[in-house]
Amino acid sequence: MESTLYTINQKRLLQTLAVSSSIGPSKNGGLHRLALTEQDREMRDQLKKWFVEAGLSVRVDDFGNMYGRRTGKQEEGPVLAMGSHMDSQPSGGKFDGVLGVLTALEVIRTLNELGLETEYPIEIVNFTNEEGARFGPPMLGSGGIAEAFSKEYIYNIKDKEGTSFAEALRQIEYKGEEQNRLTNLLGFIELHIEQGPILAKENVDIGIVEGVQGMSWLNVEVKGESNHAGPTPMEDRKDALLSASKMISKINELHKEIKGLKTTVGQLDVYPNVPNVIPGSVSFSVDIRHEKDEVRKHAVERMKEQLSTMAFTNNADVVIQTTWNSDAVTFSNHMKEYMEQSAAARGYSSKRLFSGPGHDAKYIRHMAPAGMIFLPSQHGQSHNEKELTLEEDIEKGANVLLDVILKCTKQKIENIEVRNID
Ligand SMILES: [Zn+2]
Repeated sequence: MESTLYTINQKRLLQTLAVSSSIGPSKNGGLHRLALTEQDREMRDQLKKWFVEAGLSVRVDDFGNMYGRRTGKQEEGPVLAMGSHMDSQPSGGKFDGVLGVLTALEVIRTLNELGLETEYPIEIVNFTNEEGARFGPPMLGSGGIAEAFSKEYIYNIKDKEGTSFAEALRQIEYKGEEQNRLTNLLGFIELHIEQGPILAKENVDIGIVEGVQGMSWLNVEVKGESNHAGPTPMEDRKDALLSASKMISKINELHKEIKGLKTTVGQLDVYPNVPNVIPGSVSFSVDIRHEKDEVRKHAVERMKEQLSTMAFTNNADVVIQTTWNSDAVTFSNHMKEYMEQSAAARGYSSKRLFSGPGHDAKYIRHMAPAGMIFLPSQHGQSHNEKELTLEEDIEKGANVLLDVILKCTKQKIENIEVRNID
């Protein structure tokens, strides 16, 4: 690691965070700052001001992603980028995404203060609509530049009021140019809160993210027979909901057979959904996650097998469809090592872990080597107003980010084969 350990200014960082928390506050101490709303515009204007004050050149791309660039000795790049998102869930927390952008800003301010010039240029990024709360799906800004979604698709997505993404971009005056997108990328680093309980529970300072779990969504339709609840004898029934409930229990137990698997049934539709009619059909969703794609695919097959057998013995029919697949992503090994070295040099504890939720870095990873630093979320709370990351943890995270940025801008990161997005 660096022979000299520089330190960020915790007080300044927390003051900056307090300004962000005051823009679009929710009733109980969180944030209500949906993407491309007036609150988002106000936050963006403030961020732009901070970028300019830090001597960064500011640009906005055609998805509204904002960039602040600090030049390096090699003016033309490649560029090392860091950042996350400033939008929130409707009753979201003050730290989710925000910390990734504001710790990046603090790193730049620290470099400026120290008068340190880096080999390669550095850019801070604020990605548009990471949350997907106003315009679904999530991560449209990063997914757009990584070409996981087409521009036409993104522009035509509408919110509940019928306003399109493109209209909303224009309304807040943050529709920039396609040529302003992030390119010639050396690497990308995103600091984020864990949003799960592991780091806080185990008292670990710094989470080093191995990658993002892969995910499959399935739709299961169980067909039985609707009939009157009064006259139909119990033994003659084809109760679709009863069969579905047994299947849901079975799905919940699949992790006992397949280690590390996470299965969730979160949505259920019952037909006809009346108290005195035996349910004739039921459909439900299954969300399956694992860090290894082969294991997840095997789990999907195993589940299909089990449900088909159960349908047969329960006198029901079952149709299973896969509605969405997203493969696992692995982050740069060099960046993980730099994070580990930094934590060790500063006497912070660290742990490697996988991310359950998706993040902007997941898409940017398809453009260049990427890494993520996780900070502890107290009680594992996130996407709600109780979300909390302690001040001392924020300081530690920003210091590690500073170390990794200095390390990465000194040397080219390994050239990982960039994977195609399906
Ligand atoms: Zn986030």
